[in-house]
Amino acid sequence: MSKFWSPLVNDLVPYVPGEQPKMANLVKLNTNENPYGPSPKVIEAIQAELNDSLRLYPDPEGESLRQTIADYYNVSSGQVFLGNGSDEVLAHIFHGLFQHGEPVLFPDISYSFYPVYCGLYNIEARVVPLTDSFEIDPDDYRQPNGGIIFPNPNAPTGRYLGLEHVEAILKANPDRVVVVDEAYVDFGGDTAIALVDRYPNLLVCQTLSKARSLAGLRVGFAVGHPDLIEALNRVKNSFNSYPLDRLALAGARAAFEDKEWFQRCCNGVISERERLTAALEELSFEVLPSKANFVFARHTSRAGEEIAKGLREQGIIVRHFNKPRISDYLRITIGTPEQNDALISGLRSL
Ligand SMILES: *Cc1c(COP(=O)(O)O)cnc(C)c1O
Repeated sequence: MSKFWSPLVNDLVPYVPGEQPKMANLVKLNTNENPYGPSPKVIEAIQAELNDSLRLYPDPEGESLRQTIADYYNVSSGQVFLGNGSDEVLAHIFHGLFQHGEPVLFPDISYSFYPVYCGLYNIEARVVPLTDSFEIDPDDYRQPNGGIIFPNPNAPTGRYLGLEHVEAILKANPDRVVVVDEAYVDFGGDTAIALVDRYPNLLVCQTLSKARSLAGLRVGFAVGHPDLIEALNRVKNSFNSYPLDRLALAGARAAFEDKEWFQRCCNGVISERERLTAALEELSFEVLPSKANFVFARHTSRAGEEIAKGLREQGIIVRHFNKPRISDYLRITIGTPEQNDALISGLRSL
């Protein structure tokens, strides 16, 4: 605390990102990064931008990338909003679409940035418990609210909610914005972008950090009705007109253009997810069905914290959440086959 701080700062409880340890040779399975690097075409596109034009500001609207994304998803560029990572897109969503004097609803076990944005923008949060099997029940979202947000697939559970259930939530809340945070959708789910033309209250948020291997470039986007996009643009242009730099715009465009690389990386993660799930089950873990690039698992007799600690001593980092309901679970990012083998043998030796 300091006398120089704005009063709000005293009460902020900031998000704590997954650890980025500086040690060499770690098997790092804690922050859901892609084990495969970005497409070589992304690297080329970024290198081609490394020239004198860096003295110039980038396109504030990012029109060429918005058009690339619009073409990819068969929508118009006026339905696409860009941000410096989807975390920034989410911040503008809370700021621009969720302040209605009523609580914003999200699952009790979910992305832990949501309550942080509520704190930053003074929005009441109401957590809606997942079912005993860690699923979202659409009926629980029939209550007064200032907006609804959930990841699909959910994080950290990995569970996917079918689009017919997403539609049930949209239909029950025609006067509020429903945000589907699809950070992991490319690992086996269907995107709700297919529904945006039918539901003006739907906003779908995605990132290039996970399936497109670009967590370091910081690119995220939202797709929805142009009225929702306009709200986000108003907030963005009152905050930072140039959230995406020239390198990020060029790299992100190339990432969407190289569909083959993208598909190969996703398929690699998906097949390793199935292999790791089977191996964990053999080691007496219960593994939730995952459509993400991670699995959420608990051992039938050993505490999650103890396993995480034992793995760490072997240089293998997984994510453990010291939170009610999930304190015995580990969230394990799917790595390369070699990393997953190291994890499996690390667990065996425990
Ligand atoms: C990783 C993640 C994000 C953030 O993605 P960035 O684009 O890297 O900011 C948002 N939502 C969920 C659920 C995530 O897991």
